[in-house]
Amino acid sequence: MKKVFNGAQVTRFAPSPTGYLHIGHAFSALTAYNARGQNGTFHVRIEDIDPSRCKTEFTDAILEDLHWLGLDWETPVRRQSEHLDDYEKALRNMEIKGLLYPCFCSRSEIKTEIEQSGRAPHGPDGPIYPGICRKVSSEKRKEKIHNGEPHVQRLNMQAATAICEPLTWTDKKQGIVNAEPERFGDVVLARKDVPTSYHLAVTVDDHLQGITLVNRGSDLEPATDVHRLLQHHLGYESPTYEHHRLIRDTSGRRLAKRDQDITIRSLRDNGYTSREVIKMAGFGN
Ligand code: GLU
Repeated sequence: MKKVFNGAQVTRFAPSPTGYLHIGHAFSALTAYNARGQNGTFHVRIEDIDPSRCKTEFTDAILEDLHWLGLDWETPVRRQSEHLDDYEKALRNMEIKGLLYPCFCSRSEIKTEIEQSGRAPHGPDGPIYPGICRKVSSEKRKEKIHNGEPHVQRLNMQAATAICEPLTWTDKKQGIVNAEPERFGDVVLARKDVPTSYHLAVTVDDHLQGITLVNRGSDLEPATDVHRLLQHHLGYESPTYEHHRLIRDTSGRRLAKRDQDITIRSLRDNGYTSREVIKMAGFGN
């Protein structure tokens, strides 16, 4: 990991190009940009592993809007879709350690199993996968894979947590935080359509880009527990984390990319200056 000095950090803003940036993104980007400190480094990373939702048009617009806001960043911009090999390598490492298993379940099979079992333990992302495919024999797995059955790769959470000491991660403000990745259950590390998932790609990229301080919204704070577990098994150092508040509209609703009215570009089209937009996002004067 890159050495930092005089409070300088390597930070990043990692949007998914599924829509235009809004004030909440501007807040997040500016938070990470300012957190790099003097002599620090700022990266913009395009998290575009989801081919059904991500569009090049949005990637271009995001970079243009960030530029308009006055931000500059390291080049080239890392686009996750161009680095699938890196995620496959990490996935293989997890597989060699015996921490993965293929899961052939469809969404409806999982739903039915949960309904029939009469219990539905929930994690931070919803109902926990009930472990149907964890019990499939290795012969059966081989046969299904041989027959080309679509599958995801899941982390065997119990195995992954059993072979390490309780983990912690560092929060810039709160200090040491206990990681409890178990509450997520067997998360997906490789999807059916792409050989990675959010959890895996973000962990690999933060490592490869030498990120020392991860700034992101508080909605992603629970996910840090999973990322810490992956860092442990992949032999990565753990950066410091800072999860910022989420910007809400006047009715208290969290901003989302669907809120066309407050995208950076609509504000710009309506004659706002970048200085005014930065102020709206809570920065500048
Ligand atoms: N790509 C994620 C998003 O747009 C952010 C991931 C992260 O910062 O770790 O919500």
